[in-house]
Amino acid sequence: MDVTELKKSPYDRYRYIVLALILFGIMFAWLVATLVVRNQRESLAERAGTIAATINESEIQPLTASEADIGTPAYEDLKQSMQRIKVANQDVRFVYAFVLQGNDIVFLGDSEDPDSEDYSAPGDVYYEATPALRSIFRTKQTVVEGPETDRWGTWVSGLAPVLSADGEDVVAVVGLDVDADDYFIALVSYASIPVLLALIMIVLALGGQRLRKKDEELFATKFRFLSIASHELRSPLAGIAWGAESVLENKSLHEKERTMIALIRDAARYMSETVADILTTSRMEGGASKKLLREVVDVAQLVRDAATTLSLNAAKDDITLRFDRDFPQHLPYPCDKDKMRRIFSNVISNALKYSNPKSEVLISYGRDKDGYVFLVTDHGIGIPEAEQKKIFSTYYRATNAERHVAQGTGMGLYFTKQLVELHGGRMWFESKENEGTTMHVFFPDMKQA
Ligand code: ADP
Repeated sequence: MDVTELKKSPYDRYRYIVLALILFGIMFAWLVATLVVRNQRESLAERAGTIAATINESEIQPLTASEADIGTPAYEDLKQSMQRIKVANQDVRFVYAFVLQGNDIVFLGDSEDPDSEDYSAPGDVYYEATPALRSIFRTKQTVVEGPETDRWGTWVSGLAPVLSADGEDVVAVVGLDVDADDYFIALVSYASIPVLLALIMIVLALGGQRLRKKDEELFATKFRFLSIASHELRSPLAGIAWGAESVLENKSLHEKERTMIALIRDAARYMSETVADILTTSRMEGGASKKLLREVVDVAQLVRDAATTLSLNAAKDDITLRFDRDFPQHLPYPCDKDKMRRIFSNVISNALKYSNPKSEVLISYGRDKDGYVFLVTDHGIGIPEAEQKKIFSTYYRATNAERHVAQGTGMGLYFTKQLVELHGGRMWFESKENEGTTMHVFFPDMKQA
């Protein structure tokens, strides 16, 4: 993987998510605000309408809308009922009734105590009457208006007509005032819920983005470190193995020297393989190595070559490697040669490594309608049933394998399976502890790969 690509990789997705969340917040806040406004206005209209409906023309008729009304039973009744309505509607600041006198809208009464500075006496002209308020005397329609400012403050008002007994005339208009500040506070607090939600989601999304960025930077560093370390280690290790091999060709070596140098060679080879495993695994994790360089390869020959190289080492334990009679001489198959070699080297070397001394490893082959299966069967330690599920995960080594051979990284099977799957194939096994293992590697016909 190109590390610079990682650095450049932009998080456009997160930008879109944040943008979408902002839009979502604005739209939702607007929707909530609209609904709250509608709800509040409907509620005011409804309450004004209900109050107006409870007042009879006969209760109003004795009133003259002048100071002369003060102290009359009709005025006192009206005043008391307005005060009760105000107490029952906590959000309402004023309750009042108007009548039309000539061209003036005048107070018939209000909910305020006569001692209060907000009190309006019957007959006081309401100079701030809006056209909407005036229109009620004509249209008989309930109106919600505001925010409107008058000498007492700024209000949102519900105004409803009190009709004559025959329903023909508007004898008065009843009004309820809600403080515009309270009205806006309610509106803003409801509308801020979706904005807050969107903000929380944006913070979470940005947090996720930062974590991912950190993760990728960390991965890039790890990958760079592993690549450098592996490359730097591989050449000297190959040199040591090659040097030891050359020394071993010297026929005059003593037996003890020969054994020591063979040990050096084997250790260098093992370390070289381990380093290669580390490199391949980190590449697989990074998404590199996921490209196949397909070419037509004689897979049968490739398996034979891998087996021959590996069997040299196994001979010392009297482990023999045998090909089944039906194993093909040639098998051309379009695949990635290097990756294919790693697949078979790994499976065969595991079979040899975990075999019992003086046993046989058999390599066989089967053809079915969908593709080719290679089988590698050993008579070795097997894989304990309880651990079989974990065998293909990274760095896992079965307990009996650890006892049998100390050396091993537990990475081989993980990336072997990845490489097989990259070719469109599958890998599975049958195994019985202390009896042996058969590893199956399946590759599909190319048209299905
Ligand atoms: P290792 O480096 O330990 O061999 P692998 O990834 O190649 O790592 O294999 C993972 C584990 O699977 C081994 O440690 C071993 O427990 C088990 N295993 C793989 N192949 C065989 C086999 N042929 N026989 C018994 N156990 C096997």
